[in-house]
Amino acid sequence: MNMSKKYAIGIDLGGTNLRVALVSRDGEIIKKIKEPSSGEILDIIFKTIDSLFSEDVAGIGLGIAGLVDRQNGRVLTSPNLPAIKGINLVNETRKRFKVPVFIENDANTAALGEKWAGAGEGFSNFVLLTLGTGIGSGIIKDGKLLDVSAEVGHMSINADGEKCPCGNTGCLELYASARAMIARAVSALEKGTESLLRECCKGNFYKLTPEDIYTTALDGDSLAREILKDAGRNLGIGIANIINLMSPEAIILTGGLIGAWNIYVQEAIKEASRRAFRELFETVKIIPSSLGDEAGVIGSAGLVFQKVIPHTEVMSK
Ligand code: ADP
Ligand code: MG
Ligand code: ZN
Repeated sequence: MNMSKKYAIGIDLGGTNLRVALVSRDGEIIKKIKEPSSGEILDIIFKTIDSLFSEDVAGIGLGIAGLVDRQNGRVLTSPNLPAIKGINLVNETRKRFKVPVFIENDANTAALGEKWAGAGEGFSNFVLLTLGTGIGSGIIKDGKLLDVSAEVGHMSINADGEKCPCGNTGCLELYASARAMIARAVSALEKGTESLLRECCKGNFYKLTPEDIYTTALDGDSLAREILKDAGRNLGIGIANIINLMSPEAIILTGGLIGAWNIYVQEAIKEASRRAFRELFETVKIIPSSLGDEAGVIGSAGLVFQKVIPHTEVMSK
């Protein structure tokens, strides 16, 4: 390994956004790019890496929404990105750029990022949740990333619920994610429910985003408020389950939906306080990530430094 290589490229591929960044050894972002994660996703990934790549890059870390096979480099399945299922992203990327490449789940890399350089620095045991297109989680236990799938978004909260692409029914992410909020808004508007949401997106409510739902809720719209509050209540059920299962010191929340913190997350915290063991709830801190939407790319780059540079322990900077 050439010890003079100063940077790593970190990738965070979600169901809505692809983020790619050039990151230094102390977790600072040098340059970053954000693209919609639609279309020819592999080509887009390679093109963005290309624009950040140089002789100074020690390796590439891929944080991918879905189940990944870390040993073999393959994406096993991705409910929100069906196009990448089965692809060996590590081999494809290594062939192209000829540097070490590593793959992890996107929420696991975000947890690593927050532990390395963010809100998780002071905690040895925390659970990080990514609240975006779907819901993901990563677990830091005794200061290390726990090497498990941690698919909290696919914990069932409704035995008779809808069918999920993962095979289960009533999964948390069907009731508390961006995709869930949009589905609920569209269905209510199709049924003729009165709402300011109808005027968003030049009247094409199929283009609504959770961000639109949030701004409409701030204008006092009752459908928009109800959608955010119900999604928050469902998220709170998931959070209570995590608290009871893991008794973490903190739950760190990241992903685009934390932009709706004062309605959606507030409601989740209220619901979790009603459901979790009080003794456990009283000791857990539920806080936003401090790296914001950069947690994933920083963690993916951290993974590279941890693997390729001997004695680098990004977990204890
Ligand atoms: P993913 O990682 O699944 O691609 P992100 O974490 O990037 O998703 O989050 C994108 C989602 O966050 C979009 O659906 C967007 O509308 C939503 N979003 C962004 N800002 C806000 C906000 N202020 N309020 C609610 N939702 C928001
Ligand atoms: Mg994400
Ligand atoms: Zn599921």
